[in-house]
Amino acid sequence: MKAMVLKQIYNLEEKQNPLELMDLPDPTPKEKEILVRVSACGICHTELDEIEGRTPPPRLPVVLGHQIVGRVEKAGSRAIKFRMGDRVGIGWIGSTCGKCQFCLGGNENLCPEFKATGRDLDGGYAQYTAIREEFAYAIPEVFSDLEAAPLLCAGAIGYRSLRLTGMEAGKNLGLIGFGASAHLVIQLAKHKYPNSKIFVFARTERERNFARELGAFWAGEMEDDSPEKLNCAIDTTPAWKPIVEGMKNLEKGGRLVINAIRKEEIDKEFLLKLDYAQHLWQEKEIKSVANVARNDVSEFLQLAAKIPLRP
Ligand SMILES: [Zn+2]
Ligand SMILES: [Zn+2]
Repeated sequence: MKAMVLKQIYNLEEKQNPLELMDLPDPTPKEKEILVRVSACGICHTELDEIEGRTPPPRLPVVLGHQIVGRVEKAGSRAIKFRMGDRVGIGWIGSTCGKCQFCLGGNENLCPEFKATGRDLDGGYAQYTAIREEFAYAIPEVFSDLEAAPLLCAGAIGYRSLRLTGMEAGKNLGLIGFGASAHLVIQLAKHKYPNSKIFVFARTERERNFARELGAFWAGEMEDDSPEKLNCAIDTTPAWKPIVEGMKNLEKGGRLVINAIRKEEIDKEFLLKLDYAQHLWQEKEIKSVANVARNDVSEFLQLAAKIPLRP
């Protein structure tokens, strides 16, 4: 098969085209695996973190890509969940142990043996990929292949992030950064919490206008004071300044969830501006969101189809 392969870690300032087109053997599905013929695979900021070594693949070369849509072409001898030709999606969660305290306690995203699609396992920038059948999802009819792909990471992680903020009807929600995930979360939040106000912080006027089009109550710049305090906020940026600025805008007892697998180092000194009284006192919280569990992906896909949500 043809595949776009990462052979080494690169600095993207110096290397603009880090993936190489190669011929690789077609994957052979193991007993409980399916072979998927890939039709679409999204691009996520996490690929940049992999290429630049902030979350490096454990072996190279590797096929990146973890927002995969395709059709089942072959099944292992004990794979029974799908039929040939079924349309399926694959997300970041590629495998877990199924027996540790985290897996058994409903937090399989924290499993020490968590294997990520397109990092620990070969992913979707190829004609074919193989996956354990229980880590693939049926894709709702309402979405085309291209529409469905970004739902598998940007959407699913946004769904998990929104859940982890503790958001409730009527509360104020902040979205810090407005890209692949946040433009889906705003649609999801408008649907789930129609009486809540959503405040968007974004770097460009284009993003702020897009946020207003999608129903933001207010949109401003990263360092702006929001016109009302935020009970919940989600940060999707790779930087530190937006977190400090976001904490400033939180209501007492508010929570900011960081939806980023890694932060970059460029503006880390901004953390020295963190002022305990202004940014953390009064029981404000910061929490990260790690990976996704399968429930996040499958629940989100069903809800996204019902809304229906448009990437
Ligand atoms: Zn992703
Ligand atoms: Zn486990």
